[in-house]
Amino acid sequence: MDHALEVAGDALLEKPSVARMYDYFLGGYHNFAVDRLAAQQVIGIYPDVMLMARTNRAFLRRAVTTLLEQGVEQFLDLGSGIPTVGSVHEVAQQLERDARVVYVDIDPVAVQHSEAILQGQPDVAVVQADIREPEYILGHAAVTRLIDFSKPVGVLLVAVIHFVDDAAARQVVDAFRDAIAPGSYLVLSHVTYEGPPPEAVEQAQRIYANSTNPIIFRSHAHIESFLGGFEIVEPGVVYVPQWRPQGPNMLGLAQPERTAFFAGVGRKL
Ligand code: SAM
Repeated sequence: MDHALEVAGDALLEKPSVARMYDYFLGGYHNFAVDRLAAQQVIGIYPDVMLMARTNRAFLRRAVTTLLEQGVEQFLDLGSGIPTVGSVHEVAQQLERDARVVYVDIDPVAVQHSEAILQGQPDVAVVQADIREPEYILGHAAVTRLIDFSKPVGVLLVAVIHFVDDAAARQVVDAFRDAIAPGSYLVLSHVTYEGPPPEAVEQAQRIYANSTNPIIFRSHAHIESFLGGFEIVEPGVVYVPQWRPQGPNMLGLAQPERTAFFAGVGRKL
């Protein structure tokens, strides 16, 4: 069944959606001609964008697998996009693990697609919210129904806090760190200007400046500082393909700096 068509009204088909373009970069099918055209234009200008999206989502899968293996059974995925192509509940289901998952995204298009995909799954919910409003998210009925904050939670901030300014990013991380129990994890990935050619960073910034999501590239030190107050698990904050790679031929591993993405996982003590 084509969930994309099921949820698309005329308004949703007029403009390319950043969330559906990201789905296209990932090889998903929740996108339309208008999204594919825009995505192909981006690829023409900046071919590494597909590598970035795919290696980032692959990191998310490896990190979620690691947390499930550590016994974490509840996840709050902040800035989740469209939850296909190996998102949290799919990883859990593939591993035949019980997991409760709340997806949170600010984008109404991503949320509508998520609702259609997640219909009939009582342990998975989606909330439309801005991560800069942690109180609203933490008090939301879907969150309090599915997440028990007295037990370890996996909080995901994967490819999202580069869309918020320095002060807000710090506040978001602090608020969720304070809300979770010891033994919980923060999974983080973030774009960086360290590694890729400066002109590639400029091009990417220019492309996103015209979208609803201007992007902020940060340094390794700045990104690592978001994990302050957590014990950073091995191998530390590294380019996304270098985070516990599954074999030497993994996508992006030969030239990890081309991904322009750092990733790390912290455990709350
Ligand atoms: N986390 C997913 C992943 O890594 O595969 C999706 C990442 S996608 C690049 C970024 C998502 O963050 C988009 O769906 C966008 O709508 C969402 N987003 C951006 N700013 C946000 C905010 N302030 N609050 C909540 N979601 C936000």
